[in-house]
Amino acid sequence: MPASRPSAPVPERRGRLLGSLAVLLLLAGLAAWSVLALQPPAPAPADAPATAFSAARAGVTVEEIAGEVHLTGSDAHARVVDGLVAQLTALGLDTRVQNAVGTGQAGPGETEMARLRNVVAVLPGTASTGRLFLVAHTDSVETGPGAADDAAGVAALLETVRALTAGEPLRNDVVVVLTDAEEACLCGAEAFAASHPLAAQGGVVLNLEARGTSGPPIAFETSRGNAALAERYAAAVPHPVASSFAVEVYRTLPNDTDLSVLLADGGFTGVNTAFIDGSAAYHTPQDTPSRLDRRTLQALGDNTLALTRELGGADLAALARPAPDDATYFPLPTGLARYPGSLIWPLAAAAVLGVVLLAAVDRRRGSSLPRTLLGTAAALVPLVLAPLAVGGLWRLLALVRPGYAGMTDPWRPGWFRLAAVALVAVVVLAWYALLRRRLGEAALRTGALAVLAVLAAVLAGLAPGGSYLAALPVLAGVLAGLLPARVALLGGAVAGAVAVVVLAPTVALFFPALGLAGAAAPAAVVALLLLALLPVLEGLFPAGPAPWRTLAVPAAAAGLALLLTAAGLAVDRFDQQHPVPSRLAYALEADTGEAWWFSTEARPGEEAARYVGTPRTLPHDYPYVRGVPVAAGPAEDAGLTPSTVEVLEDRRTGDERTVTVRVTPQRAVGFVVLDLDTGGGRVVAARAEARDVPAGAVGEDRLWLTFHAPPEQGLEATVTVAGGGPLRLRVVDGSTGLDGLPGFEPRPPTVDTAGSHTADLVVVGATTDLG
Ligand SMILES: [Zn+2]
Repeated sequence: MPASRPSAPVPERRGRLLGSLAVLLLLAGLAAWSVLALQPPAPAPADAPATAFSAARAGVTVEEIAGEVHLTGSDAHARVVDGLVAQLTALGLDTRVQNAVGTGQAGPGETEMARLRNVVAVLPGTASTGRLFLVAHTDSVETGPGAADDAAGVAALLETVRALTAGEPLRNDVVVVLTDAEEACLCGAEAFAASHPLAAQGGVVLNLEARGTSGPPIAFETSRGNAALAERYAAAVPHPVASSFAVEVYRTLPNDTDLSVLLADGGFTGVNTAFIDGSAAYHTPQDTPSRLDRRTLQALGDNTLALTRELGGADLAALARPAPDDATYFPLPTGLARYPGSLIWPLAAAAVLGVVLLAAVDRRRGSSLPRTLLGTAAALVPLVLAPLAVGGLWRLLALVRPGYAGMTDPWRPGWFRLAAVALVAVVVLAWYALLRRRLGEAALRTGALAVLAVLAAVLAGLAPGGSYLAALPVLAGVLAGLLPARVALLGGAVAGAVAVVVLAPTVALFFPALGLAGAAAPAAVVALLLLALLPVLEGLFPAGPAPWRTLAVPAAAAGLALLLTAAGLAVDRFDQQHPVPSRLAYALEADTGEAWWFSTEARPGEEAARYVGTPRTLPHDYPYVRGVPVAAGPAEDAGLTPSTVEVLEDRRTGDERTVTVRVTPQRAVGFVVLDLDTGGGRVVAARAEARDVPAGAVGEDRLWLTFHAPPEQGLEATVTVAGGGPLRLRVVDGSTGLDGLPGFEPRPPTVDTAGSHTADLVVVGATTDLG
């Protein structure tokens, strides 16, 4: 090949454009296949074989559980628990209720606890090597019936157990753990891990969760050292949707589930599965049985049943210990791709070396090293601009339709997601149109691969399970770049196919995971994908100088983005089944009669704005908004009776004083907060309902204890204080529902309560001087 030739021979123009369009069409088809392959299957009917999982059968259980809100400690929850005990017992399982007090996360001077009822049922194995725990939670939030979260998980476990009892017995013991107080404080899992005898030896956990009402169940979290579990998952599960990148992302997030509590306890390994699309209904009154996608339930059940059978026959003693490393895995249209963690660094290093080699070849072909470096710097531009543009799109939509301001994802986000992808294309194509003649095709292509290669290495160090996202497209892109120019389009097509297969599912899973409000992240992945496709996109542009034809390419993408946005606005309108979420709460300080409306909406929407004004910090502490500025406004004294405080014992020994009180709510509340001010002393120890307050919460001069589901006859709490002055105990109790409060007007039908702890919350505080 003549080294001096400045650029490759140019094929005839029309052929070049058509070839590029044809390849892009094929790649779009491949992307669609990659994304559609993630989608769950058709639900199996009620008369499906007894040993199979049927979403129709499980759906009946969802309807039984999620007919109404069933908050921890409520009568509705008690009925749910009793029903589950009856069903599991009828299936032949040794089923018991663990009545316990669980504790939640503890910080200095602050913790949560709950009185709860876990359901624990055992399906004994024939020659058990350990225990397999199937976990889901029975409680709902205050504001919704929890059909998806987590009646679907509970129902999937029940139908799984039913299918198991219809077949050959498994080798290993299967323990069904239906936890309580997950929504409040993950206290049910804590109580199980801390004090249930079956938890003592640990084991392998499959936890089922939801953060939406549809979409594929994703194995998004694992214990550390997941290689052996990932192997079993890949081998057994019929609808595998799992990504080691998701595992890395989740590890950096503050979110927790029951599995986090069990893993933190030690002795357990496990996999966490959740479905997350349709998140507008999450934790709201709209999380109803009819909205739960039965296809999602089928996939959840198929996977759980298959994995239970797989692990039910495995050596659990080995699987309950972490493997030496985390595997890399991701969904392909045909199954789960998987390779060992030991390959992550070699692949990242090969990507970096490959780009260096390609840069050297580019130089021989007429480009130069400075050009490649400029191309590398230039490739960062769309990676910054595309997320900004997509973030701007959501802000713009919230201006056009103010109801979006309080949502992370709209009810029907599909068209908007496509619009976001098109908008990223506008950015990348405009950027490329401006630079391709200045820097040259090769420098931009190799520069883009250089950025990806650096990303592969950075991820290999910081989030190893995500390194594949960059490393594999780079390796394919380098190989394609080394091919002679006459087969450049073919090489670009093959490398593009690798990039699409690796990156498209990540985009598809990222959108529901973060919502349109967080679409900057999937936008960055789309930008990476389009950068990897530059050799194919090049064919869209004229071979010679033709500014208008050049501009037409990003302009066409812009037109598409506009059309898709308009389609989104037309399709996604607020109505009774798709309401605007509103967060409004009421606080009353009973001693003084001061009362406030407050809202945790950053910019209160039309409905909340009728009650609240400018942000301020309330003059007293209330749960969920301690020290946090909230939009607030004056309210009338509703005359609600605060919890009573009765001193049962007050004892002094030396410098220490131990006080036992009974706190009795005077209305139906979900929780009480005991806020003890020691007057400069130090809380040495504390107990509530015969359970020690976690050590992490004592030792300060103040104790803020939130206790969920307090006994009707009163909560008994004891605190020992060293030093200090007179003790003041402020009690705040909380219920849900604003109806009947003076000044509250029923909402219009297209507005409903948001899925949040501070939506429809009513808190009443009062202070008792203990002397
Ligand atoms: Zn949940």
